[in-house]
Amino acid sequence: MKFTVLTIFPEMFSALLRGGIVGRAIEHQHISVEPINIRDFAKDRHRTVDDRPYGGGCGMVMKPEPMAEAIRHARKKDPEACTLLLTPQGQLFNQRVAQELAGYPGLILVCGRYEGIDERVREHLVDNELSIGDYVLTGGELAAMVVIDAVSRLIPGTLGSEHSAQEDSFSTGLLEYPQYTRPRSFEGTNVPEVLLSGDHGAIRQWRRQASLVRTVLKRPDLLMDQPLTTGDLEFMKKLQQDIKTIIEKHCE
Ligand code: SAM
Repeated sequence: MKFTVLTIFPEMFSALLRGGIVGRAIEHQHISVEPINIRDFAKDRHRTVDDRPYGGGCGMVMKPEPMAEAIRHARKKDPEACTLLLTPQGQLFNQRVAQELAGYPGLILVCGRYEGIDERVREHLVDNELSIGDYVLTGGELAAMVVIDAVSRLIPGTLGSEHSAQEDSFSTGLLEYPQYTRPRSFEGTNVPEVLLSGDHGAIRQWRRQASLVRTVLKRPDLLMDQPLTTGDLEFMKKLQQDIKTIIEKHCE
């Protein structure tokens, strides 16, 4: 997967590219990340990329010409790539979208600054718009890094074991079960016995049920469209019955 980032702050990406799983994925050539400076496409002596908004108002808007040139340059180098504008007005980025994007050979991530980009660039030169949440950042760079990080870990070979991405929260449609490591007892709390049992079937069942309970408590909305097994439903009915019994007992 090739990520091309169009930005006026390419240096912001150096920390992401050097360290952690993304850095290792670049080293092992599972992905590549190329930040391109939009200023390199400005024609004037001052390398201007912004101008005042037509109609007045505060702030500046990114000029269309350097942005358009930068996008065309990136597309020429990677014609199969999907061009995405980072904007708070875009489609909400989530694990499903990350999985979809991981299927492209390349992504061109366009980072706005100031009050955003000229509308004509948005209309004619981007394939889709992405938002990382309902809040406004000062620029698209952090949003682009979020997309690069989340999509990279879905590219085969990027994580040490592909299994870890499959078990993550959202990938299964549920939140992930609780995780424990050594020591067995920490400040008076022990690791659940079943995880020490070596019984893989029992561990699998415990994890599935713990995921279900977590998801019910923290994000019940996720379970509405999620296919549940007969075992899941039986477990949840039993839980429902236990809760009902407890409530009835206390209300007697
Ligand atoms: N005036 C714009 C609006 O109200 O939609 C917001 C501009 S924001 C200050 C500057 C840039 O930050 C945007 O062009 C976009 O690239 C990026 N940005 C801000 N919030 C974002 C978000 N939630 N998701 C993705 N990108 C965001």
